[in-house]
Amino acid sequence: MDFKLSDEQRMLEETVGRLVRDTYTFEVRNKSLESEQGFSADVWQQFAELGLLGVPFSEEAGGFNGGGAELMVVAEGFGRGLVVEPYLATVVLCGTLVDKLGSDQQKEALVPAIIGGETRLSLALYEPNGRYEHNRVTTSAKKDGEGYVLNGEKAVVINGDSADQLVVIARTSGAEDDRAGLSAFLVDGNAAGVSRRGYPTIDGLRAAEVVLKDVKVGADALLGAEGQAIDALEDSLALGLVALCAEASGAMEVACDQTLEYIKERQQFGVPIGKFQALQHRMVEMRMELEKVRSITMLAACSLNESRELRDKRLAAAKAQVGKSGRRVAEEAIQLFGGMGMMEETPISHYAKRIVMIDHHLGDSEYHYGRLESLLDVE
Ligand SMILES: Cc1cc2nc3c(=O)[nH]c(=O)nc-3n(C[C@H](O)[C@H](O)[C@H](O)COP(=O)(O)OP(=O)(O)OC[C@H]3O[C@@H](n4cnc5c(N)ncnc54)[C@H](O)[C@@H]3O)c2cc1C
Repeated sequence: MDFKLSDEQRMLEETVGRLVRDTYTFEVRNKSLESEQGFSADVWQQFAELGLLGVPFSEEAGGFNGGGAELMVVAEGFGRGLVVEPYLATVVLCGTLVDKLGSDQQKEALVPAIIGGETRLSLALYEPNGRYEHNRVTTSAKKDGEGYVLNGEKAVVINGDSADQLVVIARTSGAEDDRAGLSAFLVDGNAAGVSRRGYPTIDGLRAAEVVLKDVKVGADALLGAEGQAIDALEDSLALGLVALCAEASGAMEVACDQTLEYIKERQQFGVPIGKFQALQHRMVEMRMELEKVRSITMLAACSLNESRELRDKRLAAAKAQVGKSGRRVAEEAIQLFGGMGMMEETPISHYAKRIVMIDHHLGDSEYHYGRLESLLDVE
């Protein structure tokens, strides 16, 4: 397997790296978090100008025509900078779903607006009792003349409070856990019957609880064929998992670097604490966890075009490992920083929170161990 980045991928990596290093400082990031929507509209526009919002879209649509590797490069860079802008929600999860399922008309209306930074979307998928199962959907979409009426509740809709449009996964037929019968609908965030309760998550990002009560949409809101959204949804979730694993990898790298720097500086008993072998061993263990995450993320990113079965096994293995290794690195970093690691003013506390929260997004390690177990058919 060739692990070298192509010239274009390297350019993309440099673009994101420069942006994060030069302009996306810890202070800028924290200021964005304080705003009502939890991110900076100016930074989002900057992403658009740099072409970052077009990464997974075709060149004809004005995109970069990127796959798993390109997404990994971008997300890793975002992880290093603890980027809070709604890239995962808008571009990775919803953008690719619209691109895959939408009619020509729907795509023409939305894809250039996503790439240009004018429209932000959010995926309303999981439900309060869903336990990370993406096909456990009770939100209903009932035929009503030419259109549909949607009813249901969606939980922890990331960036759902500020999204212009929601991509709502609803059931047009079948029982609660059926894979068949799921449909995707475009719903205006301010449509009558949509209520959104936004809140900050542990890592400072924004999410919303969304209630849909008799929300009427036209036939043109349906993305793709009725009841057949599952395969495209799983393709977008697969990209989302790669992005999250790569983001964790970037954030873990910085956590390791900052911890190493700190233990070389922090003086106790007249020497830097990094002189103590016990701490050196712990630092090495952290680096090894990082290497595991890097390798398994690379494998997952390269598996997106494999058979669904192989892809899903590798993704489940990657997300499970990222959850486990990420937690280890986050907890060790906090321990090695001692009291300083608990402070809001110390960046490491924010890296630790993001790394731990990534585990809870799109399925935690326990869920993905279980998923891998069932895919491997282990009794
Ligand atoms: C929320 C909070 C509440 C607190 N409340 C109190 C309180 O009420 N009273 C109080 O006195 N203190 C309190 N503290 C301070 C706390 O006791 C210290 O933070 C803690 O003892 C770690 O000290 P330090 O931050 O100076 O870390 P450091 O001394 O810098 O150590 C950093 C890390 O290196 C490890 N380490 C250092 N030297 C060695 C070595 N030789 N071998 C192996 N490992 C080593 C430490 O175990 C730690 O993991 C509190 C801290 C927090 C975060």
